[in-house]
Amino acid sequence: LEFCQRLPKVELHAHLNGCVRDGTLKELAGQTLLGGQPMCLDQLVTLTELSKSSPTLGECFALFEVLHQVTTTHAAIRRIAREALEDFAADNVLYAEIRTTPKVRPEAGVAPESYMDSVFQGIEDYYLASRKPRGKDIHVRLLLSINRQRGVGEAMETVRLAAALRERGVVGVDLTGNPTQGEWLELRPALDLARKEGLKVSLEAGEGYNPSETQAMLEWRPDRLGHCCCLNPALEQALVRSGIPLEVCLTSNLLTRAVKSYGEHRFPLYYQSGHPLALCTDDPGILNTTLSREYAIASHAFKLTQRQLVALALGAASHTFLEEEEAEELRERMKAALPRDI
Ligand code: 5GP
Repeated sequence: LEFCQRLPKVELHAHLNGCVRDGTLKELAGQTLLGGQPMCLDQLVTLTELSKSSPTLGECFALFEVLHQVTTTHAAIRRIAREALEDFAADNVLYAEIRTTPKVRPEAGVAPESYMDSVFQGIEDYYLASRKPRGKDIHVRLLLSINRQRGVGEAMETVRLAAALRERGVVGVDLTGNPTQGEWLELRPALDLARKEGLKVSLEAGEGYNPSETQAMLEWRPDRLGHCCCLNPALEQALVRSGIPLEVCLTSNLLTRAVKSYGEHRFPLYYQSGHPLALCTDDPGILNTTLSREYAIASHAFKLTQRQLVALALGAASHTFLEEEEAEELRERMKAALPRDI
């Protein structure tokens, strides 16, 4: 783990609300009124306990519904954004693409635009307090998440908002949320629009077995894919042939039961095929992990040497949604940040 902590890293798949610290969540719950009553802390205990006890995918999404009642205020989301950057920077992450679903919560005065303003304020708060020189500090970009449960109308709005916020660091969108809900064909027009707008697109795919959807997603050729744990052999080969970079979230895949054990994970197949991969955290706060820990898990489970871990970390810097010039600068920053003994 110590070696992985010293490694400069790039995070490409982290959900903002999944980054919330345990302590912050408890504090926010204590301040939250639901229907005029203080939020029952038992609900949150269940949530924290649940995340330790290998919830099913359905339970995970129910867990987020509770969490969002606590975190969807302007002040909370601003704080969570700042703390997320603090935590990534402390873990030697030099660049992070953080994704979040713009939310509506009228009772808290939250609309998608104002929600995003709070995220930007949180990022600014981080830089105001950071003592690191800008060139050595974490850089951040955002993806707006399309929640597949919420239909194509909201998806279109999310894409339009992402396009409008490009100047402020939004580089793309991702398709997220409960994979058992929402039809690919229904949602596709929103993703077509994103592509037309020049936004990058990542799709969370294959969290459960759904070969026809996964195949359709591969044929659509997104810029990146997440998970892809539950693919049949033909689709695994199709993924390898596609060369589409894959965001791998090991702890998440295990805890959400997308795989039963790391022994069953398809990482080795993709790794040995030379497929472009990026280790990521998914929900570091909720899953109690860090990117360093994900590298340590990969090293242990798949017997990777230190040299291979370095190559993996540097490789991830080539799969960002940055423009080529910025991506090159990141690769240089990564190399310069490698510890001398590596
Ligand atoms: P937010 O978008 O609210 O900042 O982050 C939480 C949201 O991310 C969840 O409500 C869910 O839609 C999405 N999310 C977090 N973890 C996962 C995951 O493992 N798989 C999928 N498909 N979506 C996730």
